[in-house]
Amino acid sequence: MTRRETPPDIGAAIAALEARYPASVTTGKSARRLHASDESHHEGHEPDIVVHPRTTEEVADIVRIAARNRVPITPFGAGSGLEGGAIPQFGGISLDTSELSEIFEVRADDMIARVGAGVRRLDLNRALRDTGLFFPVDPGANATIGGMASTGASGTNALRYGVMRENVLGLTVVTADGNIVKTGSLARKSSSGYDLTRLFVGSEGTLGIITDVTLRLHPIPDAVSAHAGFETLAGAVNAVTDIKRAGLAIGRVELLDASLVEVINRRGAMRLAPLPTLFFEFHASPSEIASVSGTVSEIITENGGGGLQWPRPGEQTTALWETRRDCLSWAKAERPGSQSWPSDVCVPISRLAEVILATREDVARSQIPAHIVGHVDDGNFHCVFIHLPEEEHAVAELADRIVTRALEAGGTASGEHGVGLGKRKFQLAEHGAAAVALMRSLKQTLDPLGILNPGKVLPDLSHT
Ligand SMILES: Cc1cc2nc3c(=O)[nH]c(=O)nc-3n(C[C@H](O)[C@H](O)[C@H](O)COP(=O)(O)OP(=O)(O)OC[C@H]3O[C@@H](n4cnc5c(N)ncnc54)[C@H](O)[C@@H]3O)c2cc1C
Repeated sequence: MTRRETPPDIGAAIAALEARYPASVTTGKSARRLHASDESHHEGHEPDIVVHPRTTEEVADIVRIAARNRVPITPFGAGSGLEGGAIPQFGGISLDTSELSEIFEVRADDMIARVGAGVRRLDLNRALRDTGLFFPVDPGANATIGGMASTGASGTNALRYGVMRENVLGLTVVTADGNIVKTGSLARKSSSGYDLTRLFVGSEGTLGIITDVTLRLHPIPDAVSAHAGFETLAGAVNAVTDIKRAGLAIGRVELLDASLVEVINRRGAMRLAPLPTLFFEFHASPSEIASVSGTVSEIITENGGGGLQWPRPGEQTTALWETRRDCLSWAKAERPGSQSWPSDVCVPISRLAEVILATREDVARSQIPAHIVGHVDDGNFHCVFIHLPEEEHAVAELADRIVTRALEAGGTASGEHGVGLGKRKFQLAEHGAAAVALMRSLKQTLDPLGILNPGKVLPDLSHT
């Protein structure tokens, strides 16, 4: 029986959920409003009911209630997503994972942790501190581990530690029929069977609901940060690609354009030359850092950079990364009434400088304030527009052109934020008709009633 033959019965679903979980569900306006949107520019849409399950079994039961009544169910982590993934586009149930917040197991000897999907990444790292281990994937926001797995998140540490796909060893997933599936194992690698873990990682709640995640941990490194300014944006980008090609072991490297450095100088505690700038973090012993940073300095100079600036005595090495974390919100604060729209593309590193410069020129013509930042070591950059509501249409056109440029360069519409609502229209151009048809058949097999986060990831049928 298809969804079309049996219309959704939201009333019956609400009655069943309220009877079964009186203390964990709400249809109150404020909770529905809170779960209507994420951090993206996409227009919100309220769910009919919000549920807060505490266990995998409760999630399975709730999914069965949704399936029985043909009601959409959209997982909600921290709501920090930037592509509208957690917006319940067709109403129904918003499944908030915040009560799935247990850290079940830390196996320090194996460098593995198994945690509930609702655990926030900063809470996990606080809990791990005494073990000498940490979980390195660091999207700027304090996202949930389940949300990060579902969007295939990454961050400034990806150069050294990889993205979510490399750091998730296994999952517990509730499928659309209410079954509980375990994927992966405690082994750090496997070539056994189809890779279901990586099918669900990045699937944005459209194929299953993740309830717990087994993660790869890493030793907390000795870290020292430094920064370097460059005469040109191209020089800064090319320095990163040269460092990458030289195979130098660096913890993280982040690009900030000159306009963002000027914001930092106006609003933050750091004082930097008002130039395109790279923030570095070196992870190694002092002697190894001395050796690697010597070669990095040469590469910087060859690309028109002014040499590495190290923290002054007494200055915290973390200050630089706190500045990176906060600088975009400072930029927004400088334009009252503005909103931010971060584009997120990734291109082959050989095309990175050219794509960034073309973007910079296109954006400059619009005169809408925008800053280019990025974990550019893997070809990923963000052009973050700080725009007024009346500029939204122009920003949408600029953002579309950024994606088109990235696809023409052999890149992807999303380096790390996911598809959600915003990148659906590019799926066909990026993946081709045969791949999109295969994705549709996977969705049909795993979610035949179309109840799991409908309206996300896959393009409208009219686009294929
Ligand atoms: C200031 C700021 C900076 C950011 N920087 C980065 C960055 O550097 N890198 C990066 O990758 N992202 C970044 N993001 C985006 C965001 O933090 C990530 O996309 C994050 O992974 C979302 O996690 P969340 O818990 O907030 O998920 P949500 O936004 O709640 O949900 C995201 C998607 O995952 C689904 N989902 C959530 N939980 C589950 C679950 N348990 N099972 C199945 N599906 C689920 C939702 O339905 C939705 O489709 C940033 C966001 C902000 C606000």
